Amino acid sequence: MEGWASRPSGGRDARRSTAGCNLRQSWPWALTHHWFNRHRPCGIPCRYTPEVNPDIDLLEALRRYWGYSSFRPLQERIVASLMGGHDVCVVMPTGGGKSLCYQLPALALGKTAIVVSPLIALMQDQAAQLAQMGIPAAVLNSTMAGDEQGRIMRRARDGEFRLLYLSPERLARENTLEFLRSVPTAFFAIDEAHCISEWGHEFRPEYRQLSCLRTHFPDRAIAAFTASATRRVRHDILHQLQLKDPHKYIASFHRPNLRYVVKQCDANSQAQLLVRAIKKCSEGNIIVYSPTIARVEETVDLLEEHGIPAVGYHGKMEADERRRNQERWMSDEVRVLVGTIAFGLGINKATVRAVIHLSLPKSIEQYYQEAGRAGRDGKPADCILLWQKRDTALLAHFISQITDPAETERAWERYRRIRDFADTARCRHRQICLHFGETPKWESCGACDVCGSQPEWMAVPPKAAPRRGRRRLPMVPPVEVPQDAAIPLMAALPEPDSALREYVREWRRNMARRQSVPAYIVMHDTSLEELCRMRPRSLAALSRVTGFGERKIEAYGEQILLALEEFEKGARAAQVHEQKTKPAEETLRLLKEGKSFSEIASLRQRQLGTVIGTVATLVEQGEVAFDDSWVEANRRSVIEAACQQIGTQWLKPLKEALPPEITFEEIRLVVARLRRLKAGAEEPASA
Ligand SMILES: [Zn+2]
Repeated sequence: MEGWASRPSGGRDARRSTAGCNLRQSWPWALTHHWFNRHRPCGIPCRYTPEVNPDIDLLEALRRYWGYSSFRPLQERIVASLMGGHDVCVVMPTGGGKSLCYQLPALALGKTAIVVSPLIALMQDQAAQLAQMGIPAAVLNSTMAGDEQGRIMRRARDGEFRLLYLSPERLARENTLEFLRSVPTAFFAIDEAHCISEWGHEFRPEYRQLSCLRTHFPDRAIAAFTASATRRVRHDILHQLQLKDPHKYIASFHRPNLRYVVKQCDANSQAQLLVRAIKKCSEGNIIVYSPTIARVEETVDLLEEHGIPAVGYHGKMEADERRRNQERWMSDEVRVLVGTIAFGLGINKATVRAVIHLSLPKSIEQYYQEAGRAGRDGKPADCILLWQKRDTALLAHFISQITDPAETERAWERYRRIRDFADTARCRHRQICLHFGETPKWESCGACDVCGSQPEWMAVPPKAAPRRGRRRLPMVPPVEVPQDAAIPLMAALPEPDSALREYVREWRRNMARRQSVPAYIVMHDTSLEELCRMRPRSLAALSRVTGFGERKIEAYGEQILLALEEFEKGARAAQVHEQKTKPAEETLRLLKEGKSFSEIASLRQRQLGTVIGTVATLVEQGEVAFDDSWVEANRRSVIEAACQQIGTQWLKPLKEALPPEITFEEIRLVVARLRRLKAGAEEPASA
């Protein structure tokens, strides 16, 4: 792979190198930390900041601060490159342990690493996590109060922080660059570096300003990190950041514990398959990706109608509510989260057992990144893409809105690739690897639908919809879940006692609330699982659980041991799953109380359109009578006249035939009443 150090799937580290990357040729591959302490990381003079603190034992630091007993693939070499003052470019799937690659060298060098990251929330979580580990870190952003910023800048000048997080815009400001000159900087780390490339799927123009770094700090190393970058994007990253003879590392894109399943559906079969898939997945968390905000809400309602608690996540929610929903999901209070693509950047959840897409993503990169949030703990997980023909029209519509011709061309290229991925009967794993420029040695993976690994719940054909085109999502027929559809099992560790797991999750949730930090900052999923398996009885035994560094044991050790003791004595997690009223019932109740649509929307925390959709379904089903006050008489007769001509089967032709000021919601309501009457049913008495 063009001179990148990689780990091809199923193999040992590749020792390839080509011209232009000869620094690495002299690199001793089987490096131990003892060797590292006695020697420079490589025989070639360092390019930038050569001062390595000779006293630091990397493995000891790893154990003490992170609670890990060994490095993950590539980590040690990346750390050594940065310690040696080299530029690096790293492509590593999310969950592969990227952040440690710059956090550990910053700690070891005793200076400040400047980290550029696209999201404030993400930076704050990382800083909070580091604080829990006992590593001083701070975020500097413009939303902070002025004196707070001043304080952080002063402390940064004094070299107090090992890591300082900044947004790309903030970094590129002239006065920030000036300020950074006074900070004892170790190196710069650029997170989500693919955002710098317009060939990537998440181009952010503000990232382009980072190309000034090399000019302003010619003697500091720059490290670029990304989870998904094609060959072209990787090249662009090196070029834009002006990296000099960088050490390049790339992990395999093959995630053998993931099973990819792709299925083209209609609206009815999609809803049924979604419910089946979730019902079949009895453990762990699930993410459902929905193309629009309206569909997020409809899907949450659909799931709740089927007795599956779920929370939504989208851009139009109040920030507080969004954060709360995310945290309820992260702390295992609710297993299923339905979100738009806005959800997930920086999500640090290891036990996601399924990621389900309800529409075709914009690109393979986007799909790989989102689906890749499944199975970070290395256990089997499903990535299910349930797409509809109409998705292609929506994507084509988005592309037609792009004004820049070059960008339009790139968007079409991305569209063709994802269409190909979904449409053609070629191994999905292989298609993904090839897309990112990796050629697997195998032809068939055994872990995708094309290679014959299909969940049984998918093999049973969905029931036909009662009346095509008339029912909205929440009203699908009850879903039958076929038995014994199991995710293919890999050699897995024994499952911990589920009652104990629930108990520790509850402990973690309460602790996180008390400290106002996300649950995973108190304890990672993988640590939680291991804790429940090992059931330590002493602090020494606890320190052998992955993720329990010194500081964490100091902070929580005694309390965790106490909680485990309580469990032994019979304590159990409280049953938190209160039986929620189903969305349609709840809407009906509020309607009967005389609440207006917008009052219901605000009470149920739904968009107005979603509420009206539910009401229309209730009208059609005869659960509630059409109320004349909903649609003004004139407008109603115009709609009814159109229905006479066109019929009531489809809404879209009605909307097109009617004057633009007639809203889709008004049409929905009037049509619902006509359908009810047409079915020969009586209208119920007014509420
Ligand atoms: Zn396959």
